[in-house]
Amino acid sequence: MKSFIVHYQEIALKGKNRPWFIARLVRNIRQAVGGLGVREVRVLMGRIEIVLGPDASWEAVRDRLSRVFGIGNFARAGRAPLDVDAIAAEILNDLGPDDPPTFRVSARRADKRFPLTSPQIEREVGGRIKEARGWTVDLEDPALTIRVEALTTDAFYSFGKEPGPGGLPVGASGRVACLLSGGIDSPVASWRMMRRGCRVLFVHFHSYPILSRASQDKARELARLLTAFQFDSRLVLVPFGEIQQRVVLTVAPPLRVVIYRRLMLRIAERIARANRAQALVTGEVVGQVASQTLENLSTIGSVAGLPVLRPLIGMDKDEITAEAQRLGTFPISIIPDQDCCTLFTPRHPATKARRHEIELAESQLPIDEIVTGAVGAAAIEEFHFPPRAADVET
Ligand code: ATP
Ligand code: MG
Repeated sequence: MKSFIVHYQEIALKGKNRPWFIARLVRNIRQAVGGLGVREVRVLMGRIEIVLGPDASWEAVRDRLSRVFGIGNFARAGRAPLDVDAIAAEILNDLGPDDPPTFRVSARRADKRFPLTSPQIEREVGGRIKEARGWTVDLEDPALTIRVEALTTDAFYSFGKEPGPGGLPVGASGRVACLLSGGIDSPVASWRMMRRGCRVLFVHFHSYPILSRASQDKARELARLLTAFQFDSRLVLVPFGEIQQRVVLTVAPPLRVVIYRRLMLRIAERIARANRAQALVTGEVVGQVASQTLENLSTIGSVAGLPVLRPLIGMDKDEITAEAQRLGTFPISIIPDQDCCTLFTPRHPATKARRHEIELAESQLPIDEIVTGAVGAAAIEEFHFPPRAADVET
């Protein structure tokens, strides 16, 4: 019987909430391996066993598991009758073409009634594998450790332990709304929040029909890619071009960027609340651009009645770029588009927009009407992983 065994590290520490975290992780794993011929996902003695059906492939399941947050590590595993010949035969059958330079068998008896001691199981099973494959035994620092556990009615074996993505199961920490531009930073910020167990609602501001649809297409592509980490996503596309045109009519050029951002946060907050999200997330980084000085971050963030989380705040661009490349969002982010904030944006935005100047400029604008209009005009798209036939095609 083929299976994967999953260990959850961090969530094991969560005290009274532990059963709830584990149930969430099991649910997420079930969803992640959908369509792959997995027969069962169940909790077993402080870990999770994923039983593969006859047609399921190790590689396909492994690929999905590598994106399920909350998994500390996982390993290929199986069960065999309680007999050293049978255990060795099953292991040899599952080992595949791997050819590690050294190996060892490490045994435990969960049920001490099994007639062989743990060292005897190790010697007997190890000897059979050595003979069949010609591998060298190294008890100190083996390249491959094969674990055998003697249970009451059968034996359990596992090998090839791989690190999981860590973090907490998506959904365990509640919901946040991330302002998703087409750039490099905000997709990484979204991913980091997912890894901490948050389901992320994506909010994208675009300037169609004043500009092309390119930024919306990028936001969709990014949402689609990131959905592989949270399984169900919602993307809210908010028209922002007309709003910018209104700002340009009354606001002096150096103040515009800060005012655009404050409007975005107000609109995003409304959308967040309507979707039961408890915080806003941006890809902002101290000092990265003129709108991200400490003064401006504070002036921008002060309009929101929800916490504004900035998971990348202290990161260098190189680090963010490397993470975007690992995630696969980077090639999408660098596709050229006319971001809505390049539209009507002055070359020299104020680095220290004074709060009273900003408030004075905003008093010339019907803020509430603008926010309500934008929320009403927003379009919603849903994404699923694995994708469903009805998902938006682009
Ligand atoms: P990113 O690479 O994520 O776009 P950036 O370096 O381009 O970041 P800015 O353009 O200054 O930074 O934007 C700062 C943050 O404001 C973004 O990380 C994002 O969270 C939000 N933001 C900017 N433009 C948009 C947009 N068009 N739609 C949604 N959010 C946006
Ligand atoms: Mg940007």
